[in-house]
Amino acid sequence: DDTLLVGSELRKSFGPTPALDGAGLMVRRGEIVAVMGPSGSGKSTLLHCLAGIVAPDSGTVTFDGQDLAAMRDRDRSALRRGAFGFVFQFGQLVPELSCVENVALPMRLGGTRRKQAEAKALEWMARLEVDHLGGKRPGEVSGGQAQRVAIARALVTEPKVVFADEPTGALDSFNGEQVMRLLVDSARETGASVVLVTHEARVAAYSDREVVVRDGRTRQVELVS
Ligand code: ADP
Ligand code: ADP
Repeated sequence: DDTLLVGSELRKSFGPTPALDGAGLMVRRGEIVAVMGPSGSGKSTLLHCLAGIVAPDSGTVTFDGQDLAAMRDRDRSALRRGAFGFVFQFGQLVPELSCVENVALPMRLGGTRRKQAEAKALEWMARLEVDHLGGKRPGEVSGGQAQRVAIARALVTEPKVVFADEPTGALDSFNGEQVMRLLVDSARETGASVVLVTHEARVAAYSDREVVVRDGRTRQVELVS
């Protein structure tokens, strides 16, 4: 079975208007799925539910056949640290740490020794062409470089799913294209699936399949190729 992650009938309200109103999404192993739709349509909330960051009011999320809601908090946190990687619009790197320490962080949190974690971190930074920035702080590198560092950090644990929420949103189109190519190539190399939230058609074009969210509901886009 190549189904990896399934969200179904997801509902979530923060106020009177539901953010998710019966949304669903299925992601296959190694598949890159773009989640598109206008601002405020519920894309980020859908991503957060699928990643076990936000608990839906109703509906289910299963990862590799496991129901996230049935897991203990500890196990869900371990899943997020190990099987999931995250890239956000603003890299969310820790400003006090060097770039290599940032990339090594998920491994360090998982108990890997510093030397081994940083060696692995530098390997990933080399693939993303930012290994020469290892000693710099995030504040000392450009936006495009910081986003490559963030991608290295998301991939260093070789996650099963990378959740990317507007990963190019803060970049110009040249850097955005480069970051997307590196993200997609890295995911293909490791066999990771990607859930890519974007409102830009040009970014969604890197995906295998597009889904549109409107008013908290999802629908599949039929691709004409
Ligand atoms: P998108 O990612 O498509 O822009 P979001 O999922 O961020 O949409 O938001 C969907 C709706 O839910 C919006 O109306 C937004 O204001 C609301 N919302 C999202 N997260 C929260 C939150 N933590 N608290 C209150 N309202 C929220
Ligand atoms: P952390 O370990 O970072 O504190 P948790 O895994 O405890 O995060 O999740 C935060 C909150 O959301 C907890 O109350 C948790 O029970 C709840 N939660 C998160 N994802 C889900 C989910 N898919 N189904 C049910 N509850 C969830």
